[in-house]
Amino acid sequence: MASRELSCREVTQAFLDRIASDDEKVGCFLTIDAERALADADHAQAMLDRGEAKPLTGVPVAIKDNISTEGIETTCASKILKGYLPPYDATVIRKMRDHGMVILGKTNLDEFAMGTSTENSAFQVTRNPWDLKRSPGGSSGGSASAVAAGFAPLALGSDTGGSIRQPASLCGIVGFKPTYGRCSRYGLVAFGSSLDQIGPLARTVEDAALLSEAITGWDPMDSTSLDMPEVEFKDLKKGSLKGLRAAFPKEMFGEAVDPGVRAEIEKSITAIESAGVEVTQVSIPSIAFGVTTYYIIAPAEASSTLARFDGIRFGPRAEGKGHIGQVEKTRAEGFGHEVKARIMIGTYALSAGYYDAFYLRAQQVRALMTHEFQKVFQDFDFIISPTSPITAFELGALANDPMALKMLDYCTIPANMNGMPAISLNCGFADGLPVGLQLLAAPLQDEKLLQFAHCVEQLLPDATRRPPAP
Ligand code: GLN
Repeated sequence: MASRELSCREVTQAFLDRIASDDEKVGCFLTIDAERALADADHAQAMLDRGEAKPLTGVPVAIKDNISTEGIETTCASKILKGYLPPYDATVIRKMRDHGMVILGKTNLDEFAMGTSTENSAFQVTRNPWDLKRSPGGSSGGSASAVAAGFAPLALGSDTGGSIRQPASLCGIVGFKPTYGRCSRYGLVAFGSSLDQIGPLARTVEDAALLSEAITGWDPMDSTSLDMPEVEFKDLKKGSLKGLRAAFPKEMFGEAVDPGVRAEIEKSITAIESAGVEVTQVSIPSIAFGVTTYYIIAPAEASSTLARFDGIRFGPRAEGKGHIGQVEKTRAEGFGHEVKARIMIGTYALSAGYYDAFYLRAQQVRALMTHEFQKVFQDFDFIISPTSPITAFELGALANDPMALKMLDYCTIPANMNGMPAISLNCGFADGLPVGLQLLAAPLQDEKLLQFAHCVEQLLPDATRRPPAP
């Protein structure tokens, strides 16, 4: 586009054509607004022609459907928001528009981002482009699958307990969760507000870093936003691995890790070591309590943040007896099973008789975890682990086993508990399915982590392999 070989409109049209011909088989998108996308492309062209282009001007992007887009339906894959048209853009969307990026459409997710397979969507199934019988992971499954399938060069996801990194891992692409507070949550439909963070899904670390720079930075509209500049891109390629120290927590390499995954992670660690990194096994005992703690804190917060969906202010309204009857019926019909289960668990954990035993105890474990990780970062630059203990599973295979699904978050949850930046890279294949390597750094070390990930990516021969067209 910059060299004028292609116009912005041609590029956007090419992606829209791919989606139109192939997404029926994959199911990534809930909403496509082709007219608006082409108008965005014309706007980008005008920026280019005026010499005002930024690095991502004219680049199309797919948006997880829990991020508010003015005038474009935003459903969180829930019946309770069917037809909802946000009156404003999320800060990340406004920033991408300022960069002249093109909004292609909205992608499928687990309802309100609660899930690990994208099977909790009220509307459709999303498939993994590496094997259409399998799940793309979740909850940002639509966004991850869209990037892997070549429907969009970039996408946005949200990550509360792993929802950017886990689908990136299962789809063989890059997924990055910035430090909590570096990316504004204004306009992201809240799930667990102390854990949620928006971030990029991309084909390469470089692409992920470019999009991170475009969407991050202080935002007065988000009270948890950090008063810091954007995640800076310019030194991405100036990093070196020589002399760095990385920790490898043994708790993230337990027997639940599939042998195929284990083999690929071990190979990557060997490659990282030969590039001059000293990799040491450590113990971080609180990791073992991450899943149980998260599944108290996240539902507790969700029971509060989802209280706003009463059928009065947003989305469709059911008929019921009186005000209470109407709210009850709207919520009973509008929310799916998993969302209801979490609201109930969260309400229970916060109730007077149980608050200390559940919620308070979980917050104490969270504090302990933060403390243990801080200690590790005194001696190490980075932490390495698998992103997911298993590769992409068949659709339906874990649908009736909520505990097994939740255990898949084991390695990703700590980063949300502590606010650490975290990234997943494709490090290889087990039985033809992608394996994700997770890299973690101390809070606020986003630029360093991206530098490190960029170096590691160069060591991984499969990092940018793509599936055949669906
Ligand atoms: N799988 C986790 C859950 O179900 C994380 C989801 C997320 O990060 N949004 O809550």
